[in-house]
Amino acid sequence: MAVPTTQKGVTFYENNGALKYEDIKVPTPKADEILINIKYSGVCHTDLHAWKGDWPLPVKFDPYCVGGHEGAGVVVAMGENVKGWKLGDYAGIKWLNGSCMNCEECELSNESNCPEADLSGYTHDGSFQQYATGLAVQAAHIPKPSEGSEWYGKDDAYLAEIAPILCAGITVFKALKSSECAPGQWVAISGAAGGLGSLAVQYAKAMGFRVIGIDGGEGKEELFKKCGGEIFIDFTKEKDIPAAIVKATNGGAHGVISVSAAESAISQATHYVRTNGTIVLVGLPANAYCKSNVFDQVVKSYKIVGSYVGNRADTREALDFFERGLVRSPIKIVGLTELPRVFEEMAAGKILGRYVVDTSK
Ligand code: NAD
Ligand code: ZN
Repeated sequence: MAVPTTQKGVTFYENNGALKYEDIKVPTPKADEILINIKYSGVCHTDLHAWKGDWPLPVKFDPYCVGGHEGAGVVVAMGENVKGWKLGDYAGIKWLNGSCMNCEECELSNESNCPEADLSGYTHDGSFQQYATGLAVQAAHIPKPSEGSEWYGKDDAYLAEIAPILCAGITVFKALKSSECAPGQWVAISGAAGGLGSLAVQYAKAMGFRVIGIDGGEGKEELFKKCGGEIFIDFTKEKDIPAAIVKATNGGAHGVISVSAAESAISQATHYVRTNGTIVLVGLPANAYCKSNVFDQVVKSYKIVGSYVGNRADTREALDFFERGLVRSPIKIVGLTELPRVFEEMAAGKILGRYVVDTSK
C-alpha cells in the first residue's frame, strides 16, 4: 500500500496552545507497531483535558502533540516483528497505545494500570491525524462487517460509529462490570447524555440493568430515552438530586457510574448510592476529590472504586456488543478541521453523544 510521507493532522505545541491543522510527517512504525490509516476518530473529553493540561501527568511535546484516541481505520504498514495483523485489516487506536507487558499489572491483565503505559494523544501521537502508529499487541482488532450484518457494504459508516467504542464503549463496559451489579438492579449514570454516558446507558440496558440517568441541558433527556434509559433527572432543574434518585429507585442506586467531568456531581453520588452499593469513578475533572462521609460509608458499607479504560478482553467484548447491534454510537460527523469548535462545545457541556472527526476533511 502506498503510504505518503506527509499528512494532515491537528497539533498543539503547549497546553492551551493553538490547535493547528497542518502538514506533518507520517510516523514510521517501530518493529512491534502497526501503521493505521485513520478514517474516523471520536473526540473524547479526555482529549480536552489533555489539551488543557488538566492532569498531574505531562503531555509529550516533541515539539507537538497530536491528540485523539478513538481512531478507526485500515492497517497500511507494520514493523518486522508484528504478528497477527495483515495489510488491509481494520484496526483501532485506543487510549492505551502500549504497555510494558512485563510488570505485575500487565501480568494480571490490568494493562491500563501499567506504570509505563503509553497513551494515545498524550504520550504518543494519537488519532487526530491521517496515519497513526499503535503497538500491535494493544491495537484493537475491528472485525470486517460480515454478510448479513446490518453494516455489510457500509464500511465507512461502520468505522465512524465504531470509533467511540474504542474508548467510551470499552470504558463504560468495564466500569459497569466493576459496579458488580446484578441484572434487574438500578444503575445510575451521572453524565448520561455525553459521549461515555450515552453508551453507558445502552451497555447497562444490554447487561440487564435498570438505568436512571443524570444530565442537564437541551436535548439530553430525549437522547437518554432514545438510548433506552428509564428515568431522567435534570441536574439543572432538580433541587434535591439524591432524594429524587433514592425515591425513584426505592432506596438508592445499586451501582453508580460517574462519567461527568463535574467535581460536584462526584461526591453527590455518596448520597444516592444504595447500602452495599458501588460507586465507580470514571470522569476525571482537574484536581477533583470524591468526599465521602466516613460514618455513612461505614454504616451503609458502600464501595468507591476507580475504573480506567479496559484491557484487551474488555475491548473485544465491548466491540462484540456493537457487532451484535446491542449498542449504537450516537454520533455527529464533522471534518478534522472543526476540532477547535468541538472542544468549545464540549467545554460548554452542549454535546449530545459524541462528535467523530473525518480525517479526510
Ligand atoms: P462529555 O463531555 O461527552 O460528557 C460529560 C457529560 O456530563 C455531559 O453530557 C454533561 O452535560 C454532563 N454533566 C456536566 N455536569 C454534570 C453534573 N453536575 N451532573 C451530571 N452530569 C453532568 O465527556 P465524555 O467524553 O463522556 O468524558 C467524561 C469524563 O470521563 C471525562 O472527564 C473524561 O476524561 C473521562 N474519561 C475517563 C476514562 C477512564 O478510563 N476512566 C475514559 C474516558 C473518559
Ligand atoms: Zn477517551
